[in-house]
Amino acid sequence: MERNPRYDVLFEPVQIGPKVAPNRFYQVPHASGMTNANPRVRAAFRGMKAEGGWGVVSTGACSVHPSSDDSPFPFATLWDDADIRAHVAMTDAVHEHGALAAVELWHGGAAAVNRTSRDAPLSPSGVPWMATHVGFMSSARPKVMDQGDIRDLIRWHAEAAKRAESAGFDILYVYAGMGYLPYQFLLSSCNKRTDAYGGNARNRVRLVEELIDAVREATQGRCAVALRISLQELRSMPSDNAESEGHEIIGLLKDAPDLFDVKMDYSTTDCSPSRFSPEGSHEPIVDFVKTVTDKPVVGVGRFTSPDTMVGMVKRGVLDLIGGARPSIADPFLPKKIAEGREDEIRECIGCNICISSWHDGVWVRCTQNPTAGEEWRRGWHPENVKQDAAGSALVIGGGPSGLEAALTLARRGFTVSVAERARDFGGRLLWESGLPGLRQWSRVVDYRLGQLRRMPNVSLYAESDLSASEAVEFGADHIVVATGAKWTKILCGANEIPGGMLDGPTVYTPDDLAAGSQIEGPVAVFDFDNYYMGSAVALALAAQNLDTTYITTAGAPAAWGIMTNEQPQVSQAFREAGVRYRTLEIVQAFDGRTLSLQQIFSGEHRDIAVRSVVIVGQRAGNTDLYDALKAEAPQQSVVLTGDANAPGAIAHAVYQGHKTARDLGRAAESIDVRRDFPLVPDMSRLEAAE
Ligand code: ADP
Ligand code: SF4
Repeated sequence: MERNPRYDVLFEPVQIGPKVAPNRFYQVPHASGMTNANPRVRAAFRGMKAEGGWGVVSTGACSVHPSSDDSPFPFATLWDDADIRAHVAMTDAVHEHGALAAVELWHGGAAAVNRTSRDAPLSPSGVPWMATHVGFMSSARPKVMDQGDIRDLIRWHAEAAKRAESAGFDILYVYAGMGYLPYQFLLSSCNKRTDAYGGNARNRVRLVEELIDAVREATQGRCAVALRISLQELRSMPSDNAESEGHEIIGLLKDAPDLFDVKMDYSTTDCSPSRFSPEGSHEPIVDFVKTVTDKPVVGVGRFTSPDTMVGMVKRGVLDLIGGARPSIADPFLPKKIAEGREDEIRECIGCNICISSWHDGVWVRCTQNPTAGEEWRRGWHPENVKQDAAGSALVIGGGPSGLEAALTLARRGFTVSVAERARDFGGRLLWESGLPGLRQWSRVVDYRLGQLRRMPNVSLYAESDLSASEAVEFGADHIVVATGAKWTKILCGANEIPGGMLDGPTVYTPDDLAAGSQIEGPVAVFDFDNYYMGSAVALALAAQNLDTTYITTAGAPAAWGIMTNEQPQVSQAFREAGVRYRTLEIVQAFDGRTLSLQQIFSGEHRDIAVRSVVIVGQRAGNTDLYDALKAEAPQQSVVLTGDANAPGAIAHAVYQGHKTARDLGRAAESIDVRRDFPLVPDMSRLEAAE
């Protein structure tokens, strides 16, 4: 198909200092959970984006020195020459497809608490960064850098820059954002110095200028130098010399780098879930930068719509369309636009499971793209599935796992039928995506249904509630059972072990709400699932003007949401919606009028008056059909997948559906799962240096 001429502007090359980006699609630095210890996994993950048309592909944070150690969070390193080979694997993979490779040289300063290296964290003035935030908490406080430390920092960047060039990188970053060391120098609240690096804005930008100069000189101008800068706090601060400190600082630095990469200050605002922020949410903070500098500007905003991207360029907000999450969800987003296939984009849903992977310290996972992180280990390509199958498959259940299984089976060459009990496909997402803020999650269904509907070897049967005998009679070679899970009324003990059941005419689960039960207020939501469902249900009930109290076993509402950057915003949303919340409590009994609670640690009892209770706790797989098939047709090939097999997040259901489909009909010994290992450095160089 032809590209829509409206999108031509996105495919114009952009000069970035001495380099030329082939188009405006720029995968900005983002965490992948992949370190130098997994060079092939990382190279395949990043290389896939270049194959998919991203003109620039960047690393995540790459530490310049052991005094910037983010452990236990994963990060890359360029500490010495031994690190170079691991990066060459990535730059080769990126260059193979004509893209530029960028490296985010990084010193975390007070925000990297050096748990492994045990070096004292560095800072301009000894001010800690977010010291009350779990990920940054430490019993150590940063030291104040002296002039020698500043000289060292500049030298470390220059040395890392040389290594980066040897590794094949085209664009080298200086990172002054997100609380990291150079950014702390920019912020007057962190920089209390009285020397040439502190005080007025002119002095506070000095370090960043010197870092940019050092990186440029180290590679004698052969590599482009990018400045990544956070602007949320700076833009909120008044300035005597400009509209804001942000304007003043960009003005002072306007000619220094070859590219500005502009962003927010905190992970929760920089990588905000779609539940609370729309596409393009950075624009009000970063929109002024192009009015101050002539250098190209890249920024993000979870852009998935080519029309929005064109708007960003035409309205003069950005020159390059930055993508982190959209490039994970669909590495082939640029190619699909280039080929007039924008309706095939697997749009990011903004659930932030990807960022939770980094918080978990593991390779990136994605709800929409089950192949993310598996490109090398399992050899999974996000678009191309080896056509290695014949025969037929019946998928029972048209939720996220069933639809993903059907799509991948069809791509493998199976003749696929999908039977769904309900009138519409979508499973749990039919209702869940109607909860406050979750509308974009329906993209999981939309993408898959859109693909399946155009495939000649796929038949979709709605309103088809199959029994075991009907499923066998259908006559497919394989049956995939993806019948989902149900919420239970099981309670949870003070020891967090699930216990007895709470029942009664006004005790509900989310499934009851999905089925249309009318709830009488006041209502309590008891959440020991602690991901999104409990808080989303509470907000939905409050939106019906019901007096709503949320109760959790955890110390905060939606406690696991700290992993997806949702948690702080849930607390905020509760306040705005008038939802009261109680923490560290369990439900003990309910007589229809009084709900008895117990404080987990003190054992103290408290009663609250409510008419209804919604329990958001445990789910159990719907395995009846699978069990009947196993009993009635032992010879039939049957596989259980998705929530029916192991209830989890949508990401788990999609991944399971995908894996089931990839493996179906294949002998276990033919399924290769490769194990990556570090690339041994060139020891002769190291030994020569000794
Ligand atoms: P998952 O997240 O694993 O995809 P869902 O709960 O979202 O699970 O989807 C399961 C789907 O299976 C639901 O849409 C449900 O209507 C459907 N389903 C369950 N049992 C049957 C059955 N016997 N025949 C057809 N469809 C079924
Ligand atoms: Fe987008 Fe969710 Fe995938 Fe992250 S995990 S890229 S937010 S769809």
